Amino acid sequence: MRTPQWVRISHQCYKKSDMETILKSILTCPNCNVSKEETMPTDACQFFHECASCGTVVKPLEGDCCVFCSYGSVPCPPIQQAQSCCGK
Ligand SMILES: [Zn+2]
Repeated sequence: MRTPQWVRISHQCYKKSDMETILKSILTCPNCNVSKEETMPTDACQFFHECASCGTVVKPLEGDCCVFCSYGSVPCPPIQQAQSCCGK
């Protein structure tokens, strides 16, 4: 018997959105270097973050959408979900 053609799928594209989105990011203050674990909102980007240690209002670097992309250990959920193995 011959194998049906539709079985011959060798490459499967796994989008990152199928994977678990990391919601905790360790934010490091650029002023006092104190790190704090923060929970990221899934539906929005957090543009400002006030450092609990020195009171500095941290803003994202140019080109970044939120403080987590600039200073966090994990980029924000929308960025995580936008990535896939095919770059689309
Ligand atoms: Zn600080």
